[in-house]
Amino acid sequence: MPTATAAQLSSEAARAFVERSHGLLIGGESVAAADGRTFETIDPATGEPICAVAHGGAADVERAVGAARAALEGPLRKVSASKRAGMIYKLAELIKANGDELAELESLDNGKPLASAKGDVAASIAHLRYYAGWPTKIEGETIPVSGRDLFVYTLREPVGVCAQIVPWNFPLLMAVWKISPALAAGCPLVLKPAEQTPLTALRLGELALEAGFPEGTVNVLTGDGETGAALVDSPGVDKVAFTGSTVVGREIGAKCGRSLKRVTLELGGKSPNIILADADLEAAVKGSFQGIYFNSGQACNAGSRLFVQAELFDEVVSRLAGFAAEAKVGPGLDPESQFGPLISEEQFARVTGYIDSGLAEGAEAVAGGLPEGAGNGGGYFVNPTLFTGVSDEMKIVREEIFGPVLVAQPFESLDEVAARANDTEYGLAAGLWTRDISNAHKLAALLKAGSVYINTWGAGDPAAPFGGYKSSGIGREKGHHNLDAYLETKAVFTQL
Ligand code: NDP
Repeated sequence: MPTATAAQLSSEAARAFVERSHGLLIGGESVAAADGRTFETIDPATGEPICAVAHGGAADVERAVGAARAALEGPLRKVSASKRAGMIYKLAELIKANGDELAELESLDNGKPLASAKGDVAASIAHLRYYAGWPTKIEGETIPVSGRDLFVYTLREPVGVCAQIVPWNFPLLMAVWKISPALAAGCPLVLKPAEQTPLTALRLGELALEAGFPEGTVNVLTGDGETGAALVDSPGVDKVAFTGSTVVGREIGAKCGRSLKRVTLELGGKSPNIILADADLEAAVKGSFQGIYFNSGQACNAGSRLFVQAELFDEVVSRLAGFAAEAKVGPGLDPESQFGPLISEEQFARVTGYIDSGLAEGAEAVAGGLPEGAGNGGGYFVNPTLFTGVSDEMKIVREEIFGPVLVAQPFESLDEVAARANDTEYGLAAGLWTRDISNAHKLAALLKAGSVYINTWGAGDPAAPFGGYKSSGIGREKGHHNLDAYLETKAVFTQL
């Protein structure tokens, strides 16, 4: 029987997917969890269950890791680089062919507006197409060494079985960011989506099979944090890639340090966005508004700390508050909605807790609050919220909120704002708006962040690296940087 939530879907294929049973994808088959457990995934716009999904446990982790190992040592090793490239490209084509289904599933499961979900599908296709170009270009070197009569060359080999743990804010796109470089390098993987958003990862796993990857190359384990922890602990895993909170990232990094597994971490942020007095005001305000409220603020690179040069401060705040008042917040599947709900009751409590803490610490909310009925069985909606009158010490200024909450502060000089912008444990992204090219590059050099946006926010490309300084992570995703994280280098010495 279609649930009330599934009935909202207009894609027949998406409805049919929701109504199917949802096992774990292990070794090319959909299987129940060894102990038969399931959990419900929830529609964040209503708080109602969408469907039940298998809950992978420790025994399933070992099955999935075993299937990945068997693929690595068997059929996957025999796939040539050009065939692998073709499979990655075909996966991109299959995502395109099934784009409406994937976008609707994502919008339903995550709550994001359908147009944003379609954007994620398009970005996923672009990502796979980019990495489809790599398998045929992974080359070693010949090394001129000093020892006599030695011929030395390097081989670049897949790092091994990969555990890939992704969050709920861009479920399909984050899964694609993870699997593309692994597949390009020839690594099999076990993908663990977030418990809030398991659906598109399961569909992605099916499409990978359809694209021709040998069984066991792409395994998908739905479950919770314990499933993820068991995966990280599995002795059969060679490399862990994680995107999520800094707290869990630290734990995973420490475990991987002890077991000497390769690890890349893409974690939280509290990214500064700086508007200088000579900026194109209209572009700066529009860009800054999207920079924080896009995806309802649930983005690791959200521009959550706004610094405005003092003479422009009141004008910028008043324009942002005007946009916020007009913003349409609603269910993702409603075409009118610009911003969807937060992902879960837990996240709703967390974000509203931060708003309360801001008010208690004396900040002034010039926009925001909750739509009528929100949180009480009416979906996890929070309006775009803007605080002024904040100090650098307040919790809402220092901690990652991961919701639609912006704090705005005035500044006087470039050096002052660079120091305040960098006064955070995080370093994922930073942005600045100015017409002065010299100030732009001076500030870009001073800001301690993995991405710096000049006169834009959130720009990216599959070829350009993305990742964090400081507590925002280790390593880079995208581009050849991420491919390197899935390769080992072997030096071969031959006595001539
Ligand atoms: P988590 O870091 O807990 O979750 C991210 C992923 O890790 C999920 O797949 C989760 O599984 C899994 N996981 C959880 N615990 C472990 C563990 N011990 N070992 C291995 N894997 C684990 O984020 P939350 O969903 O709890 O969100 C909390 C906060 O994290 C947010 O408010 C935000 O600040 C931040 N966050 C940052 C993200 C980013 O893109 N940088 C993305 C998401 C959250 P499961 O969800 O099934 O428990």
